[in-house]
Amino acid sequence: MMLTSVFRDSSQVTKQVKLIQTVADPLADKWGRPLQIMEVCGGHTHAIFKFGLDQLIPKSIEFIHGPGCPVCVLPIEAIDQAVTIAEQSDVIFTSFGDPLRVPGSKKSLLKAKAQGADIQVLYSPLDAIALAKNNPDKQVVFFAIGFDTTMPSIAFSLLTAAQQGINNLRFLCHHIRLMPTLMALLAGEKVQLDGFVGPGHVSMVIGAHAYQPIAKRYRKPLVIAGFEPVDFLQALYQLILQLAQGRCEIENAYARVVTAEGNLSAQQAISTVFDDGVDSQWRGLGVVPGSSVKIKECYQAFDARQLLNNTVLSQSSVEIKDPGYCNAVLMGKLKPDQCPLFRKQCTPENPKGALMVSGEGACAAYYYYKGT
Ligand code: SF4
Repeated sequence: MMLTSVFRDSSQVTKQVKLIQTVADPLADKWGRPLQIMEVCGGHTHAIFKFGLDQLIPKSIEFIHGPGCPVCVLPIEAIDQAVTIAEQSDVIFTSFGDPLRVPGSKKSLLKAKAQGADIQVLYSPLDAIALAKNNPDKQVVFFAIGFDTTMPSIAFSLLTAAQQGINNLRFLCHHIRLMPTLMALLAGEKVQLDGFVGPGHVSMVIGAHAYQPIAKRYRKPLVIAGFEPVDFLQALYQLILQLAQGRCEIENAYARVVTAEGNLSAQQAISTVFDDGVDSQWRGLGVVPGSSVKIKECYQAFDARQLLNNTVLSQSSVEIKDPGYCNAVLMGKLKPDQCPLFRKQCTPENPKGALMVSGEGACAAYYYYKGT
């Protein structure tokens, strides 16, 4: 409680906003346009609106909401795969809560559950191990999604299951790695970007050094930020200062959590379980080279894709529909409230796209915090 209040202190917030304005306004005047800053992570998008920072930060700064929400970039095919597996009679399908409401080409996991599929929400993949032990006549499948942040817990769970000789637990993995995604975004840059506010939790795993190619190859600064207002504003100030001074470096404004090297045991678990560098298709981003992973050959018994029926999937993919606006929001070309479906046909109760479903989705952030 004490710790949180320090990072929400209003006098600190006011001071930081003033500092940011002092540097940002003259720079935007000089450039003749607002400074275009991408907050990579959906957690930061929510922090901006939840704490009203969008009202305080000067208009000389424009935020481009980045692709860092794993639920939002899940391709429809991934939901179709999940539904196909979940509807098998001998399967208990488990997942974190958010993916259940994401529309697939025919139905969401929530609808499959309502129609009788055994789908359970878990808080940790480790809970799936207990479920598998208690249901030896069933196949327990965990829907493993997320950026580098969630990969260690999946890897540790799989290794634990292997160690304990559990043979009825599998993982349907759709992990996305942050660095290849940012590199692809910069390589095909269609949106003007001046710098990045880097995600605190992914950075905790991969470490601050991992971002060096962004500064070296693309000459863009990045500052890693935490999720409280004072954390975020401190990072933003450092970023704007870099722009004003013509520097482009990787800086860490979240040093109480993030180190230069990251979490080495988490990285070790990831490289033990997964093969890196798999090209993958993501919603709104298209095919991002090397952005995904696959379970290593020696752990194939834990790969839920073996339960898939290819014929069923290829038939369902014909019906894929996705509002084109979601892609534009994910690429930073459209603000959520510029989507014609926003607050009308598309709401959290009746989402048309994943960005309205996820707790980190940009459209959900606008819906809950940005007024009408
Ligand atoms: S409001 Fe709905 S349809 Fe529009 S971009 Fe957001 S999620 Fe997609």
